[in-house]
Amino acid sequence: MTTNQIALSHISIKQRVIAGLVCTTLGLGMIIGVGFAGAHTMHNAAHDTRHAVGFPCH
Ligand SMILES: [Zn+2]
Repeated sequence: MTTNQIALSHISIKQRVIAGLVCTTLGLGMIIGVGFAGAHTMHNAAHDTRHAVGFPCH
């Protein structure tokens, strides 16, 4: 048994199902959100992220 198998054995099936549902919901939200966002919205989001991390752009 490896270290990862020992650590995962403490997580119940219910907790694994909840984690899977949360990850699926977040993933689908990102895919659908990006899929329906316009090019201008995506550009502004990327631009705002660059400013938020202090990357100089203009
Ligand atoms: Zn800028």
